Amino acid sequence: MKATVMSGREPARSLREMIAGKVAQLVKAPGVAIVRNERHPEAAGYARQVARGAGRVGIPVRDEFIDESSTTATTIRLIEALSIDSEVHGIILALPLPSQVDAQRVIAALPPHKDVDRITSGALGELMVGTSQRAPGVAMAVMHLLAHYEIPLAGRHVSVVGRSPSVGKPVALLMLAQHATVTICHSRTPHLASITSKADVVVAGAGRPRLITRDHLGDGAVVVDVGTTYTADGVQGDVETDSIASIVSAYSPVPGGVGPLTVYCLLLNVLDLFYDAEREQ
Ligand code: NAP
Repeated sequence: MKATVMSGREPARSLREMIAGKVAQLVKAPGVAIVRNERHPEAAGYARQVARGAGRVGIPVRDEFIDESSTTATTIRLIEALSIDSEVHGIILALPLPSQVDAQRVIAALPPHKDVDRITSGALGELMVGTSQRAPGVAMAVMHLLAHYEIPLAGRHVSVVGRSPSVGKPVALLMLAQHATVTICHSRTPHLASITSKADVVVAGAGRPRLITRDHLGDGAVVVDVGTTYTADGVQGDVETDSIASIVSAYSPVPGGVGPLTVYCLLLNVLDLFYDAEREQ
């Protein structure tokens, strides 16, 4: 069987064009603020990626820099000011924040109606009860990728590896909303392969390179690799691609799978938050 390689580039391009088209129709573009921690390479890279994507769809970005001199109190005051600023429709926190800043307290200060990354308990609660299908960018990217490649989910067994609030849990909730039967696996799951190998679709979000091998997958399974681990050999996903390609029906590569879609899913959230704010007026 020749497996389909589920590249994220084409669906990312469609999503980008769709968002740019919607922004172009607005009298005034939505505003997004990025709280940037330039001293941390991952946080800085994330902020750059979001700013580049926003620029390409015509969404203006306001940069708010924090650094070693920032405290939990000053960062919370910044979030509070952005929360009441009518020009700012969405706030993005480029994590991790500097180590002296209590990230949980800062996240708690973020109002759900401006939470682009959907990381607040309010935003995740809405996803949990089903009043919103907005989710963290990477979780939405998984769903967009599967939809683009017309992978059916209703009634199928989806196994999610990882249970973090930004990846595993929201992916599992979005899958449930699509009527999949979901199993969630994590580091304390004994005999991981015995569960994942029975699944029709496996979403790997553990951040452990080569965790998922052919022993973890059934014939014809679909695998979405969310893992992004930076190593001396470059960026690595969780899936051992060379060993699985001959037994699965489709898989997403790393890099170039979920990654290119994530930023545009976030920008879709910005647009939705903007429409909500307009409706409130
Ligand atoms: P995380 O907070 O460290 O969570 C990792 C999860 O994987 C945990 O639930 C952990 O279980 C589970 N896990 C770890 N080792 C495992 C093992 N051997 N077997 C089964 N489960 C295991 O990481 P995260 O923030 O969710 O991110 C996960 C991956 O996604 C990372 O590589 C990250 O870089 C990537 N990511 C990618 C994007 C993107 O745009 N592509 C965006 C966000 C994150 P426990 O709960 O038991 O510890």
